Amino acid sequence: LLELRNVWVEYGDKVVLEGVNLAIAPGEFVSVVGPSGAGKSTFLRLVLGQEAPSRGQVLLAGDPMPPECGPDRGVVFQRYSVFPHLTVIGNVLVGFEFAGAPVLGRLFGARRRAALAQAEAMLAAVGLAHARDQYPAQLSGGMQQRLALAQALVKHPRILLLDEPFGALDPGIRADMHELVSGLWRDHGLTVIMVTHDIAEAFKLGTRVLAFDKRRHDPHAPHRFGATATYDVPLLRKVAVPE
Ligand code: ATP
Ligand code: MG
Repeated sequence: LLELRNVWVEYGDKVVLEGVNLAIAPGEFVSVVGPSGAGKSTFLRLVLGQEAPSRGQVLLAGDPMPPECGPDRGVVFQRYSVFPHLTVIGNVLVGFEFAGAPVLGRLFGARRRAALAQAEAMLAAVGLAHARDQYPAQLSGGMQQRLALAQALVKHPRILLLDEPFGALDPGIRADMHELVSGLWRDHGLTVIMVTHDIAEAFKLGTRVLAFDKRRHDPHAPHRFGATATYDVPLLRKVAVPE
């Protein structure tokens, strides 16, 4: 589904990704771990089409990555994924706008009803049906991330990208979110790429864990550890995903 072939990302003389090769198959849940600055978010931006590699190729289903967050991809960040001035249902409908479709105000008749029905179904799937007409400020952090997931998934993308989605949440809430994301992944046949600093979370949710290593910033060092040598960490024991 997704392939990086000898991908480099450089800012001036700073090498962030150094010849990354990896392939992600449909249906995988890939956890990405690694130290701050290792290039994890840069990797997600490549997959979103928001950044082009300085060398190498990023392929989506065998074709060069289309720019921007097309209907194939939904994304959730640690914070600021939702718009404070829009209601909950309004925020979900923004997901349609991102995909290049008209905003709700320009949809009429059957198409408007269909979009609303899809948005409401997505809200129900993340457990937010009751909060339909509230504003994000009235929601807890966990509820806001549920809303961000609904927004990211309303167009039924193939790939869900998560950049430390639960980093700002309490541990108790995190467990609920793990169940939710596992369920969405399974029920929607998604391919998920999740960046996290929480190793336990990475192994609990992932079918595979990728470790990004930070480059040794010494061009004269005998071994130039790749920025991003990406290491596939074998899953020794797979924790059962709660039903
Ligand atoms: P964190 O865990 O802190 O989120 P990360 O692994 O997501 O880190 P990135 O955000 O991908 O790391 O950044 C990798 C490196 O690239 C960092 O050193 C960062 O400063 C640098 N970087 C990112 N974007 C740019 C840019 N536009 N110009 C210059 N340097 C950049
Ligand atoms: Mg990051």
